Amino acid sequence: MPRIAIIGAGITGVTSAYALSKLGYDVTVYDRQRYPAMETSYANGGQLSASNAEVWNSAATVMKGLRWLGRRNAPLLLNPRFSWHKYSWLAQFMGQIRNYRQNTIATTRLAIEARQHLYAMAEAEGIDFDLERRGILHIYHDAASFEAARRANVLLREGGLERHAVTPEEARAIEPALQTACHGGFYTPSDATGDIHKFTSGLARACVRLGVRFEQDADIRHISRDGLPHVLDIAREDGARREQHEASAIVICAGAASRQFARQLGDTLNIYPVKGYSISVHLDEADSRAAAPTVSLLDEAAKIVTSRLGDRFRVAGTAEFNGFNMDIRAERIQPLVDWTRRHFPGVRTSRVVPWCGLRPMTPNMMPRVGPGKRPGVFYNTGHGHLGWTLSAATAQMLAASVRESVAVA
Ligand SMILES: Cc1cc2nc3c(=O)[nH]c(=O)nc-3n(C[C@H](O)[C@H](O)[C@H](O)COP(=O)(O)OP(=O)(O)OC[C@H]3O[C@@H](n4cnc5c(N)ncnc54)[C@H](O)[C@@H]3O)c2cc1C
Repeated sequence: MPRIAIIGAGITGVTSAYALSKLGYDVTVYDRQRYPAMETSYANGGQLSASNAEVWNSAATVMKGLRWLGRRNAPLLLNPRFSWHKYSWLAQFMGQIRNYRQNTIATTRLAIEARQHLYAMAEAEGIDFDLERRGILHIYHDAASFEAARRANVLLREGGLERHAVTPEEARAIEPALQTACHGGFYTPSDATGDIHKFTSGLARACVRLGVRFEQDADIRHISRDGLPHVLDIAREDGARREQHEASAIVICAGAASRQFARQLGDTLNIYPVKGYSISVHLDEADSRAAAPTVSLLDEAAKIVTSRLGDRFRVAGTAEFNGFNMDIRAERIQPLVDWTRRHFPGVRTSRVVPWCGLRPMTPNMMPRVGPGKRPGVFYNTGHGHLGWTLSAATAQMLAASVRESVAVA
């Protein structure tokens, strides 16, 4: 039976493992962390959001980004120091503006398709992940951004999404906890939220029940590309011990690290680590729980998303272009706390857990799913700001692609 090695135990790797093992493949997942879902799939915004499918490759977004540059609290931060990786990525990003329309529609369709797979997996395996199916409300604070949203909405509708404009009064009726005024909103009743870490960990346990092996604390230093089987060079205990494992096929699901593996395997995959931050506000008291929203929000001006995860309120945002830097910077966390205090003054921010993660972003913001150039090489990676939303669908695409060229037994 061919042995398939998946590199990465985040949401993309674990959903891929599940889909492949359901097809009967012998699967092993490798990850450098001790447990699954400890990197970007740990504490993200929580949104399962077809309504956030608009790709960022538009002249309007670029103009907005330029205005934000240099502002300390801006949702976008670009470290101007030269790096070939960063500037070549940005150049390719600009080149994709011409595909804005088609990529937004394609992402919307993929996000809608993903829902059924995600819910089916959770139900079949009994995974509790604080799912809230109450929709997502986008709020806008001025007429210009509301009109821009109306234009983007045409594309989301073309992709099959039911999303409608709401007045400030209707927005307040949808989420009564919202204390501040807005110019207007767009509401997507079919969107949802949930805890990516709980889901991925639960699905990893289900994979183990299906016979998938997890090699954790396994830092993959190199993968051979010439000839089959592939040989994985694994460092254990900070490199003190090395092991070599063989596999007939490799699936790269390594998030922001996928680019380096693609290079080893002879493929070009430009993924930039776009850093984001979140806070998990612990709603310890009853009055704090009552004051926090249950409907998920996206504040367009602040580029902040929220989700209610049981007794936690998750607030996430910012896009920082600063390489593989993983510092949790106080000045990026404070705007998330301030935003929570401004819009939900009754929520106590006495116990707030900060976090940061690297979005694995391709220049056209589309995930790379399918085979590489060499035999037995596959990718399911580059999901950027929508990995939680899209992975359940791309795992199915990946499994179908593997089935085309790798026999089960
Ligand atoms: C602040 C923030 C908010 C977000 N909000 C949302 C949201 O609301 N909705 C949404 O849909 N998406 C959201 N996202 C995006 C989403 O979280 C990501 O797209 C997704 O988690 C990426 O999953 P992944 O499996 O590709 O990467 P990861 O979860 O990072 O998994 C990659 C794995 O590869 C492993 N790995 C890497 N290198 C090696 C190596 N050398 N050897 C062994 N293992 C290795 C890592 O340890 C890691 O576990 C958000 C992201 C951020 C940062």
